[in-house]
Amino acid sequence: MNNSSQLQGGKVWLVGAGPGDPDLLTIKAARLIAQADAIVYDHLVGNGIMDLARSDARVIYAGKESSKHTMPQGDINQLLVTLAREGLSVVRLKGGDPFIFGRGGEELETLVASGIPFEVVPGVTAAAGCAAYSGFPLTHRDHAQAVTFVTGHLKDGTVNLDWPALARPNQTVVFYMGIGAAEEICKQMINHGLPSMTPAAVIRNGTQADQKTVLATLGTLPHRLTESGIKPPALIVVGSVVGLHEKLSWFEKR
Ligand code: SAH
Repeated sequence: MNNSSQLQGGKVWLVGAGPGDPDLLTIKAARLIAQADAIVYDHLVGNGIMDLARSDARVIYAGKESSKHTMPQGDINQLLVTLAREGLSVVRLKGGDPFIFGRGGEELETLVASGIPFEVVPGVTAAAGCAAYSGFPLTHRDHAQAVTFVTGHLKDGTVNLDWPALARPNQTVVFYMGIGAAEEICKQMINHGLPSMTPAAVIRNGTQADQKTVLATLGTLPHRLTESGIKPPALIVVGSVVGLHEKLSWFEKR
């Protein structure tokens, strides 16, 4: 890979870094990271990925652990504009896919308003990465005809979701940012008709060396979470595909 910058300056690339394992970067993401003049990256960008950056690149951490926002969103938006106006090639690097619970859209709106050119590079979203590395085929034909990605953390702090839709049978539901609300999520799914025996799992640090999968049911998940002391970032997966983990898991068995 060529390490000298060949990128056009004054432009921003909004890039998905995937769920953690650097090998899950797209070739385009790896090339852009290696060439950018400036990189603004998030908390969820996996270990090892920033090592690809040029040694003379301007590297800025924009933070965002749940509830510990290092840099307010408005400042991040403005920073991208400022760096691009300096004539730099700027990579805005986000965990997973930038358009899936990544606030990438908001950053692009500021760029558009400021007349800054941009491109978007998709990444492997956490649900796809965790499902692959935990052995849950999200839409296995015998189990699920649909998969829903939903946030367990709403802007106003509530988890006021469309529970009747989420509790329908024959689907897989993946909750992002749901650890803090796990008890409420499980209670609502049961109250809206799913059996408390429905398989459910939590995957922490999916695709990374320390990935951990905790298997449970809707009824036992809150207790299993407390017991295992799991902290974010983690996904909650609900549906009978979780039952395939025993047969199909490979990563945690290495
Ligand atoms: N844009 C990201 C999601 C950002 S929201 C994507 O497409 O994946 C942040 C949430 O994503 C976390 O709270 C967690 O629920 C989930 N997440 C991100 N990376 C993860 C990982 N490696 N393992 C488990 N969950 C992860």
